Amino acid sequence: MSQVKSSFIQTLPAQKILIVGAGVTGTSLIEYLESVGASADVFDEKSPGALREISASYDLAIVSPGWKKDHPVILALKAAGTTLMSEIDFAWHVKQEVAPSQKWLAITGTNGKTTTVQMVESIFVNGGINGVACGNVGNPVIEAVSHSAPYDYLILELSSFQLDWSSAPNYVAGALLNIAPDHIDWHGSLDEYANAKLSLLRASDVGIINADDPASVLRATAWGGKKIFYSLDTPQKGELGLVENLLVDRAFVSDPSQAAAFAELADIKPAVPHNVSNAMAAAGLALAIGISHETIQRGLSAFTLDRHRLELVVQINEVAWIDDSKATNPHAAAAALLSQLSSIWIAGGLAKGADMQELVARCAPRIKAAILIGQDRDLIAAALKEYAPKVEIEYVDMHGDSAQLMRDVVATAQKIAVPGDTVLMAPACASMDQFKDYKERGDLFAAAVREMVLP
Ligand code: ADP
Repeated sequence: MSQVKSSFIQTLPAQKILIVGAGVTGTSLIEYLESVGASADVFDEKSPGALREISASYDLAIVSPGWKKDHPVILALKAAGTTLMSEIDFAWHVKQEVAPSQKWLAITGTNGKTTTVQMVESIFVNGGINGVACGNVGNPVIEAVSHSAPYDYLILELSSFQLDWSSAPNYVAGALLNIAPDHIDWHGSLDEYANAKLSLLRASDVGIINADDPASVLRATAWGGKKIFYSLDTPQKGELGLVENLLVDRAFVSDPSQAAAFAELADIKPAVPHNVSNAMAAAGLALAIGISHETIQRGLSAFTLDRHRLELVVQINEVAWIDDSKATNPHAAAAALLSQLSSIWIAGGLAKGADMQELVARCAPRIKAAILIGQDRDLIAAALKEYAPKVEIEYVDMHGDSAQLMRDVVATAQKIAVPGDTVLMAPACASMDQFKDYKERGDLFAAAVREMVLP
């Protein structure tokens, strides 16, 4: 007798379902469930239309990204025997039925995820490949999976929080960009944070790993899967790397004694080290699914960085004013500082438990002066006093609103800047102590620069 294969989707209408989180992902989940004849309650203590506490019992709870595993409602659901599932795992089960041949690629890392995902998407677009970016960037995964005409490929941006919650998917290739301290307050320790990132490799057929990042290399040693390393050095057989001004593939070429170029440095804008590194990772993922070198070159050269990432606001009187407000941790700020020769560095905000010493010790020769703002600025000041004692420090306090704070910051920078300097806002901290988010911080900086620096 033939066995009827049970359908995950067909079980949904009969289940009592709770969605945890009323944001964009929660909304997409509701829409999807309604489209298959199922329904759900939504829990979110911060959203007016959602449940603020749960009294009913549920068969299944689908959890939006960012929820802590020890949140009281999660603990209560667990204790009540509810099946808990992340949105990503839920989307994977749906994909297995609605688009079984669809392949998933993914990227994780402390910094560069969005940029690298966008680079892969640019390669898809330029190669006419039926793929889309989702996860932290773009649409929720469930929306991409349930798209009316199924995509051949999804490229997912996965934060450590999402990985921490996820166990179902298989990725044809997963890229690990870097591991540096961030969100330690959320995960509890660097080891737990790194472990969440490494779980991507365990779920991937091929790992594309940054050989220039010692933490990634070290932590990936225990993983026995197929590793393709990339770096900004001359590549060995089986690696991607840089030979003079060429980005070169020695991993996916048919004859490994050969090398094939897939871009020139001039194709990568700006060709600063961390951005070239991200381009290598994007190319590694594209090569893993058989995309040609020519398509990769077209995709990379058509790509420009998104807002608030090394964004040149104004270049005037030989001073560049740059908004890298997305540098919300020390590792990102280090990449920004190392991409410039001499910076008047605007920094500070919420450090999220990260320590500033390594950043300052590494970048000291590139810091001419520091303008410090925000709650944890003393951490940065202490690191500067220890590792860069000659650097001038200016403190700017909040008098009035956030827009005024940025005007005061820009006025301070104007007094210090001379031709050849960069005024670089790369705060190494999150922004929510003084701004709505990193975008507002960047926009207010750019507005103050345009108002005060332009003639
Ligand atoms: P994420 O999605 O991981 O936050 P983004 O692409 O949005 O990554 O970049 C976040 C910040 O990190 C920006 O300030 C950017 O300039 C910096 N950055 C980007 N790529 C890297 C990298 N490979 N290493 C270090 N910093 C990076």
